[in-house]
Amino acid sequence: MNKDNTTYVNCPTCQKQVVWSKDSPYRPFCSKRCQLIDLGDWATEEHRIADKDITEQDLWSEEDLTDFAGKH
Ligand SMILES: [Zn+2]
Repeated sequence: MNKDNTTYVNCPTCQKQVVWSKDSPYRPFCSKRCQLIDLGDWATEEHRIADKDITEQDLWSEEDLTDFAGKH
């Protein structure tokens, strides 16, 4: 029970608990990285230069994302 009415959410990317407040600018994500991963921008940034011909979908299958999240 939260007597102080603090709201917690789970980061959609890594499931880490995040305090829902102005102290968490990336909520409901725990960090900017998790936010970017969810949006797909992270993969785009990392691979844009090296793998121009590979689509984002090819780089990040659902299985890859699940594996990544599990390592936290
Ligand atoms: Zn996260």
